[in-house]
Amino acid sequence: MSRETKYGINSLKHDFPNDEACLQFIFDSQHSRKCSCGGQYRLIDGRRQFQCSKCRFQIAPTANTIFHKSATPLTLWFHAIHVFSNAKSGISAKQMERDLEVTYKTAWRILSLIRKALKQDDEKLRGDVEMDSAYFGGRRYGGKNNEGLGKAISAKSVVMAAVERNGKIKAEIVKDNSAETHKEFIDKNIARGETRLMTDKSQNYIKATIGINRQSVDHGKREFARGDVHINRIETFWSHVKRSLKGTHKVISKQHLQSYLDGFVFHYNNRYNDKERFSSLVYTLLRA
Ligand SMILES: [Zn+2]
Repeated sequence: MSRETKYGINSLKHDFPNDEACLQFIFDSQHSRKCSCGGQYRLIDGRRQFQCSKCRFQIAPTANTIFHKSATPLTLWFHAIHVFSNAKSGISAKQMERDLEVTYKTAWRILSLIRKALKQDDEKLRGDVEMDSAYFGGRRYGGKNNEGLGKAISAKSVVMAAVERNGKIKAEIVKDNSAETHKEFIDKNIARGETRLMTDKSQNYIKATIGINRQSVDHGKREFARGDVHINRIETFWSHVKRSLKGTHKVISKQHLQSYLDGFVFHYNNRYNDKERFSSLVYTLLRA
């Protein structure tokens, strides 16, 4: 029944046994093997360069990508991308250091380059959309049973998120939880005319959602769903992110929280197919 397909370390080693295989994959994701002159592009031995068999034109598929400037072998890069891609609860540099048998500095650098590449797109959400906000860090995040959590994130941040039912999610740090900020988030991320928006009862939505078909559930009255009106997907996302941050990372500064959110959003939006998620991450890094 599951729509998921697995792509584990054995599959990775089978598909990418050496740097040549990685280079072929990188080349094929950007170019055709067939040159316009009718010749065929082939990898030049011992170089990260392809050459046409007829006109001798050369292409360096890693030029101007993050792979190019790095002394890290491509197989190691692919291994790191694979580890990140399969780590749905996130991964720390410490763990990456152990998995890849590299220095902490290298692991940290690779992870930060991956996270930086994972910017969320600008496409607006539509259809049945759930929206909610949450506090990360600070007192409201800590709570009685969450002592470690208060420490994990060094300052309080407000995060807003919206998710299409059976579709994509967006999540971003915003400046506050005001009505005006709700409106800004909605204007930026939600197609007003084409959306049935599901929220909680917060007053901050009233002005912000004028002209939107909005339906709300009243958590204060312990109403969590009324027919298909609920925000369960967002609630699940919040608890996954909070649990993961707490379990994986010792300290996260406010400054880095957005790039962690981008990572969780990437995983959510590519949740069904492990192999596609891996490939999509390689493509994203090539374009970064
Ligand atoms: Zn040619």
